[in-house]
Amino acid sequence: MKIKQIGEQRFLIQSDKDPEETYEVDLAMPFCECKGFYYNKKECKHIKLAKEFVKNHLP
Ligand SMILES: [Zn+2]
Repeated sequence: MKIKQIGEQRFLIQSDKDPEETYEVDLAMPFCECKGFYYNKKECKHIKLAKEFVKNHLP
């Protein structure tokens, strides 16, 4: 799974089911484009991954 940072708090997370697909995550909201987040309105795995990424990559 790949994560690409596209803004200060925005990320593109590659889907683990379909590598062609990416979900945009905005940690400021937080928001994710995936269906899981849309239906559950809860932190999905993409948001968690983005948070992990921030933890590991920012001072
Ligand atoms: Zn998601």
